[in-house]
Amino acid sequence: MLHSYNEHKYRNRRQKLLTTLRNKGIKSEAVLKAIEAVPRHLFVDTAFADRAYEDSALPIDMKQTISQPYTVARQTELLDILPGEKVLEIGTGSGYQAAVLIAMGAQVYSIERHRLLYDRARAILHEAGLRIMMKCGDGTQGWNAYAPYDAIIVTAGAPVIPDALVSQLNDGGRLVIPVGDEHTQAMHRITRHGDEFREEIFDDFKFVPLIGKDGWQNGG
Ligand code: SAH
Repeated sequence: MLHSYNEHKYRNRRQKLLTTLRNKGIKSEAVLKAIEAVPRHLFVDTAFADRAYEDSALPIDMKQTISQPYTVARQTELLDILPGEKVLEIGTGSGYQAAVLIAMGAQVYSIERHRLLYDRARAILHEAGLRIMMKCGDGTQGWNAYAPYDAIIVTAGAPVIPDALVSQLNDGGRLVIPVGDEHTQAMHRITRHGDEFREEIFDDFKFVPLIGKDGWQNGG
């Protein structure tokens, strides 16, 4: 897939997207570089490939969406990842955010509850030659077998912060999660310092719902 990274049309569009993200306030050069490296058009439905570098969310299957590039950039920036860190993602969806995390040099674990999306993302990531550990199931319970994680990112809107995710953070670990109602969610970051947890709250976003035991209950 490294070859398809060189497709000119998409590369030019990706450059423009980087300018948009900088203008919207993304400052981390590491994050911008990761976004520059990942061919988002491979993760969207072929019908939307032409819109892959617009700064907008796009539909994937099962009434879900691939997050807006700004959202991916902002969450990744808040995660503050160093190469080699272990990162857990809840909500694999298209696999795009996972690919961006891998491009940051992270060791990525990702959970998706819809089997169809799980299978598809798995195939795309494999074809791209990207190494990732994936699981199909309820991510609100985290993935205890590989805990603790240096960073945990939730890419669906949660009603509350699931305890399991907080408990699977490494010392110094960060959990970035949108929390709110069905309409808007504020981005929260919980940072673990020993037995202490610091909570920061950032801007509002709109995500598809996090559905599961410690999420919304009325899932399709
Ligand atoms: N990170 C994705 C965003 C996908 S949208 C991307 O880059 O494309 C959020 C995803 O979270 C959806 O695919 C949805 O099915 C999934 N999801 C919702 N609740 C979940 C849960 N409890 N565990 C795992 N995945 C969940």
